[in-house]
This record gives sequence, structure tokens and C-alpha cells, in this order.
Amino acid sequence: MSKLFLVPTPIGNLQDITFRAVDVLGKVDLILAEDTRQTKKLLNHYKINTPLQSHHMFNEHKSVEAVCSKILDGMTIALVSDAGTPGISDPGFLLVRTCVEKDIPVETLPGPTALIPALVNSGLPCDRFSFEGFLPPKKGRNKRITGLTEETRTMIFYESPYRLVKTLDELAIHFGPGRYASVSRELSKIFEENIRGTLSFLSEYYTNKPPKGEIVIVVAGRRD
Ligand code: SAM
Repeated sequence: MSKLFLVPTPIGNLQDITFRAVDVLGKVDLILAEDTRQTKKLLNHYKINTPLQSHHMFNEHKSVEAVCSKILDGMTIALVSDAGTPGISDPGFLLVRTCVEKDIPVETLPGPTALIPALVNSGLPCDRFSFEGFLPPKKGRNKRITGLTEETRTMIFYESPYRLVKTLDELAIHFGPGRYASVSRELSKIFEENIRGTLSFLSEYYTNKPPKGEIVIVVAGRRD
């Protein structure tokens, strides 16, 4: 039966892909990819020849209807992003919502995403957590952080290396400099680093050692 598959892909280490993900990517009629050149490298590694089509945040509003028509006409299509799980700070939501509205079957494979290893590795409570994704760079940023001051669950933020120290400092202003946190950098890659400590310690650490690569910040919730 035709359907949409959402297929998670590695966040660094190419071995972090499931047997089922490789199987599905090899069997579908078409793969929608955020960056076709990036996905081509993954497909070449696994000797997959499925046709690729571009699907990213700048064209997804236009293309969702056409994609749904293809599935309704009998095609089975997979959506991947550059890394991790589609829909998690990546395109995916719009297409899934449209498929759901049209009664098109959707199946999301379990697999890589940056937030879960960062959370589990942080040593902070992971029984309940709030995934915050990227904070807005300017407009609405202060409101978003202020809205989290009462949050008692562990919070997870995606961040760029260029804004890491600024964000740690802002979080310290709102949550207090002594709030515990963890910064996971380059997860699953050769230079993976996990540094844990208070927000003020982490800010000083990364001021002295400006970070490179991809980053997840995990912050303890407010203690009751
Ligand atoms: N869809 C992805 C997922 O499931 O995690 C997230 C895509 S989002 C555009 C990219 C952000 O995810 C990066 O800026 C970083 O915050 C985080 N990220 C992705 N890969 C990472 C890695 N290997 N180590 C640390 N953070 C990573």
C-alpha cells in the first residue's frame, strides 16, 4: 500500500542507521531530501539507487500537495532530513499534517536524533523533559526564556556554536548562574565532547575554548 515513511538518518556516525531504514530507503519509489547532495553521500555509502527529490523549508509549502498526489496515485515515498529525525527542528511536520488530513498512511521509523543522547548523557533527570528546539535568534527570544523560568522538567535546546556562550549567559540571568546544565557537542562524531556543570562554569569554559560543531544544551529544571 502506498504511504509516507519518515526515515531518521545518522547525526554524525554513518553506522547509526537501522537495518530497516536502509531497507525502506532502498525499496521506496522516491526519497524526498532536505539537501539531495548530502543524502546522496548516505545513499552511495549504502549502495541505494532510489531517485531523490529536493524537499526543504523553502519549497515544502508549495510541494506538499504534489507529494500527497503522488502517494494517492500509488507511490511510496520516504522523507529524510540532513541528519536525525525529520520533523525535529527540520522539515516534516507540514507534510505529515497534510497526509493525516488526507488519510494517507504515515509511518515514522525510530532512529537517530540529537536530543535523546544529549539528554540521557547529561546526568539530569530524563523521566520528564521539555524539548525547546532552537530559541528564536531575536524577536520573541526573551519571552521564550522568561516563559521557562518556572519549568521544573529538564529542558533541551539546540544551539549553534556561535551563539552558545550568549545563550548560556542569558539562561544564567533567568535561571540563576548555579543552575546545572550539560553541553553535548559533536555527538557520535570523532570529537564528541560532553561538558557538565553550572551555567556560569559552562559559559566560562566555552569563553576560554570557543566551540566548533553541532551543539545541544540540556538544562536542569527548577527545583520545587
Ligand atoms: N533533525 C535533527 C534531530 O533529529 O536531532 C535536528 C536537526 S537541526 C537542523 C540541527 C541541530 O541539531 C544542530 O544545530 C544541533 O543543535 C543538533 N545536532 C544535530 N546533530 C548533532 C550532533 N551530532 N551533536 C550535537 N548536536 C547535534
